[in-house]
Amino acid sequence: MAVFEHIEFDDHEALHFISDVPSGLRAIIAVHSTVLGPAAGGCRRWSYASDSDALTDALRLSRGMTYKNAVAELSFGGGKAVILGNDDAPKSPQLLAAFGRAVDSLGGSYVTAEDVGMSVEDMRYVRQQTRYVSGLPQDGKSAGGDPSPWTALGVFLGIEAAVRSRLSKDSLDGLTVAVQGVGHVGTHLCRYLHEAGAKLLIADVNPENLQSVSTEIPVEVIAPSEILFADVDVIAPCALGNILSSATIPKIKAKVIAGAANNQLSILADGKRLAEREILYAPDYVINAGGIISVSHEYYGDSSEGHVRADVAKIPQRLQAIFAEAGESGRPTNELADEMARRLIAAGRPQGQATYE
Ligand code: NAD
Repeated sequence: MAVFEHIEFDDHEALHFISDVPSGLRAIIAVHSTVLGPAAGGCRRWSYASDSDALTDALRLSRGMTYKNAVAELSFGGGKAVILGNDDAPKSPQLLAAFGRAVDSLGGSYVTAEDVGMSVEDMRYVRQQTRYVSGLPQDGKSAGGDPSPWTALGVFLGIEAAVRSRLSKDSLDGLTVAVQGVGHVGTHLCRYLHEAGAKLLIADVNPENLQSVSTEIPVEVIAPSEILFADVDVIAPCALGNILSSATIPKIKAKVIAGAANNQLSILADGKRLAEREILYAPDYVINAGGIISVSHEYYGDSSEGHVRADVAKIPQRLQAIFAEAGESGRPTNELADEMARRLIAAGRPQGQATYE
């Protein structure tokens, strides 16, 4: 398994491979950049087909976090942890404690939180071993805790911005949105969209999640294999990444793609493919920053709901700037977002250090 020659390796500052025999924990912690602050990014637990797939995910996701945190103007660099899920190593308190010890051993260069396959409750066990964790249950009126409602709010505001830009509509009333994946973020997003008057198509591979949304909100359920190609105004990907590719993009009918999933583009050139088809793509790490904004406020001790809301409300403004530049230049939105991120990282880098350019 090549590391330094890996196609996703982007001068990551450090990669940590963790094995804890008593609990069965196997994990990778990727610290992509600490230029703008501690490398922050959630921990994902997933059943990867191979170790190599887990490494690819950790490398890509951690780089994405550096860019996401930079564009969201947070005092965080970028990192990510992946726990290799398998039946022999269930998510036990022992495994979570071992993960917490691993995070702690990095002395604060990496700050963890929940991501796919992990919960707020899991973070309590991690917190018993390390203070370098955020996204913990909060009391009273504080923000913090589960970041997904904030991610959903940012995505909703981002969809409104994309619709204004691409469809010249000030409201989602009467538009149809296809939500791929109704887990933590997708469910909250459906609530916002329904309240705004949008008609909803949803798909998920988990029947329980479909059932739970369908009983609360009027939705049409369609097959997971059809959701991307549905005849709708907006597609909101809220499941997993690698869904926009040379195979799928030609069949997409929607004019806007704006959702929470990380790494939606299979490769960077897919952004160009979308632009050529005049499909407006909201760069994933710009639109889905609501959760990490909440995590950042919590980590730095300012969980005031009003402050988090005000920062999440900046997401549509950033998207608007990217959409406007894309409109003028004809360039893909993902390239413009990457440029914005690299500029911000370079500006924060101490003099004399190399840049990513
Ligand atoms: P989740 O695990 O709660 O929900 C994902 C949902 O997608 C699940 O219901 C799952 O069954 C479904 N799914 C999986 N494969 C599918 C498929 N092929 N077709 C349709 N549905 C499928 O995760 P989440 O926290 O809601 O996050 C969703 C996405 O948003 C992930 O890519 C995550 O990395 C990203 N994201 C989440 C947050 C957050 O705050 N939770 C923040 C930023 C980005």
